[in-house]
Parts: sequence; structure tokens; C-alpha cells
Amino acid sequence: MLTQLKITNPATEETLQTLPCDNESAIIAKLSAARTAQVAWAARTVEDRVKVIAKFSDLLEKNKEDLARTLTSEVGKPLQQSLNEINGARTRIGFFIEQSARHLATETVFEAKGRLEKIAYEPLGVVGVISAWNYPYLVGVNAVVPALIGGNGVLYKPSEFSTLTGLKITNLLYEAGVPRELFAPIVGDGGQGAFLTKTAVDGIYFTGSVGTGRKIRQAISERFIASGFELGGKDPIYVCEDVDLEKVVPAVADGVFYNNGQSCCSVERIYVSESIYTKFVDRFVAEVKTYKLGRPTDEGIYLGPLTRDVQRAVLKAQVEDAVKKGAKLLVGGKETSVGGKGYYFEPTVLSNVNHTMSVMRDESFGPIIGIQKVASDAEAIELINDTNYGLTAGVYTPDAARAEKLLARMNAGSAYWNCCDRVSPYLPWSGRQDSGLGSTLSHIGIRAFTRPKAYHLIS
Ligand code: NDP
Repeated sequence: MLTQLKITNPATEETLQTLPCDNESAIIAKLSAARTAQVAWAARTVEDRVKVIAKFSDLLEKNKEDLARTLTSEVGKPLQQSLNEINGARTRIGFFIEQSARHLATETVFEAKGRLEKIAYEPLGVVGVISAWNYPYLVGVNAVVPALIGGNGVLYKPSEFSTLTGLKITNLLYEAGVPRELFAPIVGDGGQGAFLTKTAVDGIYFTGSVGTGRKIRQAISERFIASGFELGGKDPIYVCEDVDLEKVVPAVADGVFYNNGQSCCSVERIYVSESIYTKFVDRFVAEVKTYKLGRPTDEGIYLGPLTRDVQRAVLKAQVEDAVKKGAKLLVGGKETSVGGKGYYFEPTVLSNVNHTMSVMRDESFGPIIGIQKVASDAEAIELINDTNYGLTAGVYTPDAARAEKLLARMNAGSAYWNCCDRVSPYLPWSGRQDSGLGSTLSHIGIRAFTRPKAYHLIS
């Protein structure tokens, strides 16, 4: 197990901090303390717990400049995108503040003479939350906030690449009134994460890659504990011939390249009706050429470095594989740096792609896109569903009836009409196939951190 965690700035390659990691006995002690603290926390009313979370949200707002700088320093996203993430997290928290009491209230579902039947939503106990680094505020909020509001204790394992942010989130929760023993951060890498999954937690909620998701599912397979898996994607968009390219191209390009393509719901495949294919591709490349790549702390930068250096090799291999199989590399395709430093990769567009190529099959998680021509709606649907993933999928067309038919046939947890790369707290966030199991957000995500108790009351 890792004993010292070195945190690196991906833009400058400087070491930001070295932190001591939690060892096995520290993790077990944190679990035991959380278990005791959880009893008192669960005895408080939902409204009372919501008040603490509302204070946490106020503290995010108050500290957002500093929080955004920390986030940018460790994951490399442009400062404005860090601020956007914190604002977005507050919107999600607002949903939980507004809706939790209603959805956690005990429901009377049957009432007749002498018989009353009710469902109560009880906390699970102490849950492990294991997070990805790409949106630590958003991914964290999806699980940590409803878990706490639902009356649970939390052992929170931020990614090694966003640990400073994870610790800032922790401290603001404490400042808001979350008891220290109830919510415990676990510092370390995958080793600490793996150990956490083997402890006696009452649930594991994981956001990350399919490979790690599989390992965790295996690790908990002998125990009947609650779990949630929010995994990767290879999300497709279909652009029909009747769209306004001036509006659609910038929106889809942003869906591809925002956060350097390091979003679970980034657009990773584009299918375009053949009659507008060439025009679309030309306009798309022109759009990508306007993007400014540079130091994420500089004004007006849209693309910073990737968070993890190793991902550059994945992207390079996808470009080489595609070109070898006949794709045209229209822009980008190489690693780059700023002032000789940083894990940068040029924004990359490939045309003439097909499904024999890794770039159209495997998650890229970087600033790269393949654009494929399709002859009909039927072909678009066949290609969209030709994947092991199933997080989001969408279509751009002004024709509502056509869109409705297409969306119904897409095998994905979220279906988009004239939008992409979008999450709403009012809607469940869930993946199909290798994109995961279970839902966060919406009333389903509020109840995901509780277990129902059925009351049969006969008088
Ligand atoms: P990883 O799977 O590498 O890591 C996710 C978390 O799991 C990290 O905290 C990691 O720790 C930890 N971990 C690693 N190994 C183990 C293990 N054996 N047991 C328990 N925990 C472990 O994913 P990334 O952090 O690289 O995130 C990127 C992936 O997440 C992409 O595939 C992306 O699509 C997906 N994602 C999905 C979302 C969704 O909502 N569906 C949202 C955001 C991202 P450490 O980092 O310290 O090694």
C-alpha cells in the first residue's frame, strides 16, 4: 500500500505536496469511529441534516476562488472550468436541499380499516465513496451529499489525482457542521481504495473506469451490500442533414473538447448524414482551430494539460491505429507542451473513421474525435448501439417526431435531443452495459443511499 502520495501539477510537472497516506489500521479505525458517529447523525431529522449541507454549499460559494485554484493546480483544467464545476456542484446541492425531505419522508402506501402499510427510507450505515478525479466536486456531490442527507457515515476516497480538492471538500463539510468522525477522507491510491472495498462498510459507491469497477464488483461479491457503479462511456451524437451547422458545430465540438474530453459523458463518436458530411467536417475543424491551448491559469485558455500523463499514450495509439486503417488526420494528433512542460495533447479530429478502429470503440478520455458518415437513420442507430458502453447518446435535428423515434431506440441511460454532455439533477444519471449499474441524482439518487423498510401495521 502506498505510504506517501506525491501530488503533481500536470501543467508544470512540479510537485505540489507530498502527503502521508492512510494505512490499513487507520482505515479500520476511521470506519469504527464513523459507525459510532452515524447513530447520532441518523437520529437527527432530515431537515436538520439538510441545513448542514446548505451551509456547506454557502461555504463553497464563499471559498470558490481558492477552491478553483487548487482544483486547477492538481487536475489542470482551465480556471474558468474549475469555477464552472463548483457553480454546477452548488446547483446540484440546491436540488438535494429542495427535494430530499420530500423523497425521504415515510410514505403511507395503503390504508384501510384496521390496516396501515408504510415505507420508511432508512440509512444504510457507513458507506464507502470512491471517486474519479475528472470532476471531484460534481462526482463527489452526486454521492457524498445524498449519503449524508440520508443519515449515513461516509469513508471518502478521492482519487490520488484530486486529493487536495478532496481534503478541501472534507474541511468545508466539517466547517458546515458535519461531525469529524462521521465523514472521513482516505488518502492514498488504488491500494487504499481496494482495501476500503474489503472492509465492513455497508455500501460502496464508485465512479471511475470500467476496469476498476469490475475489480470492485468482484471484491464485494461475497457480501450483500448496496453498491453503485458510474463508469466510462463512448458517447455518440448523430447529426442529421436538416440542422443549422452554425449552431450545431460549436455545441457538439464543446461536447467533445470541454475539460479536454475528460468527462464521462464527453461526445466520443460523431455520426453525420452523408449529404452534409464534408460541410460538417470542414466547419468542425475550423471550430477546433479556434481553441486556445495553454497554461490553465492563463486568461482565455480552453484546453489545459491532461490530468494524467499516461493517457497521452492511449490517445497516440488511437491516432496511429485509425490512420493505419485508413482514417484522415485533419488536425492535431500529437503530444505537445507549454514552455517545455506539461501533459498536453493537441485537439485531434479524424474523418473517414469506422468501427474497426479503436477511436470509435474504446473510451478515449481525451481531446480526440472520430467523425463517421452515415447513409440513413437506421445505419446511425445501428452504429450508435454498436458499443459495450451506454451512458448517453443523442441526436441533432429540428424534427421532433424524428428525434423521438431515434431516442427511443438508443441503448443509453440518458438520451439527448439538440444537446449533449449534459447532466440535470432532476434526472437519474445511470449507465447501461459497461457504463455502470444504479443511478445517482433525481429522486432515485436521493433514495439510493437508503434502504426501504416495509411497515405492516394492524390495529
Ligand atoms: P479509475 O478507475 O482509475 O479510478 C477511480 C477511483 O478508484 C480512484 O479514486 C482510484 O484511486 C480508485 N481505485 C483504483 N483502483 C482501485 C481498486 N482496485 N479498488 C478500489 N478503488 C480503486 O478511474 P479514473 O479516476 O481515471 O476516472 C476516469 C474514469 O471514470 C473514466 O472511465 C470515466 O468515464 C469514468 N467516470 C464516470 C462517470 C459517470 O458518471 N459514469 C463520471 C466521471 C468519471 P486512485 O485514483 O488514487 O488510483
